[in-house]
Amino acid sequence: MRLDQYVSSSSPLSRKEAKRAIMAGRIRVNGPPCKLARQQVQEHDEVLFDGAPLTLPGESYLMINKPAGTLSATTDSDQPTVLDLLPPELAAGLHVVGRLDKDTTGLLLLTTDGQWSHTVTSPRRECPKCYRVDLAEPLTEQSRQQLEQGVMLKGESARTRPAAVAELSGRQILLTIHEGRYHQVKRMLAAVGNHVTGLHRQSIGSIALDPDLPAGGYRHLTQAEIDAVA
Ligand code: URA
Repeated sequence: MRLDQYVSSSSPLSRKEAKRAIMAGRIRVNGPPCKLARQQVQEHDEVLFDGAPLTLPGESYLMINKPAGTLSATTDSDQPTVLDLLPPELAAGLHVVGRLDKDTTGLLLLTTDGQWSHTVTSPRRECPKCYRVDLAEPLTEQSRQQLEQGVMLKGESARTRPAAVAELSGRQILLTIHEGRYHQVKRMLAAVGNHVTGLHRQSIGSIALDPDLPAGGYRHLTQAEIDAVA
C-alpha cells in the first residue's frame, strides 16, 4: 500500500497529516527518511514515525521496564498501573503476560494476543524466568542447594521445580525458575530462612529486558522475540 495510507492506518494521523509528516521527513522506511507519500510499502517493511515503529492494526506485543510502585494490572481505581505508562492509543486492548508484584521491577510483557500469552505462561512449557534478587542475608551453600533442588512453599503440597542459582555478590543472586506460583521468588527465599529486599526480572525465555529502556520505558517486541517464545 502507499506510504501515506500505511501511516494513517497505523497511527492516529489523518491521511492529510500523514502526508505532512512524510514531507517533513519524520517517517523512515527501512532506515532512511522517505519523503514520497506514494512510495509503496509492504507489511514486512520497517516504518518508523519519529523513531517509533508503526505497525498495521493487528496484535500488539510490547515489553516494559516496570518501575516499582506500579500494578501489573490493566485498571485500578486508585493506584497507577503499567498501562498508565503507555499512550492511550497503544494501551487499548493490552493485557499483562505474567504479573509482577507492585514492588518488583523489570521485564513485563504486554500483548493483545491471548493465544500468545497463554503459550508463554502455560505451566507445561516451563518457560524460564530469570530474576535478580537482593537478599537480607548472604545465601548459604545449604540454601543454594535447597533452591536448586526445590523447596516446599508455605501452604503448598508440592515442591518447587529445580531452580538455577548464580551468586552475583554476597547478598545478590540470579535465580531462574520455571514456574509462576504466587509470590514464588519471595516465598522460595522465605522457605530457606532468607528475605527478599529487592526483585528485578531480567528475562522471560529468550526475551531479555532491553538495557536501553529506562524505568517506565517500553518498546515493541521484534518479530524474532515474538516467535522465540511462541
Ligand atoms: N516472584 C515474586 O515473589 N514476586 C514477583 O513479582 C515475581 C516473582
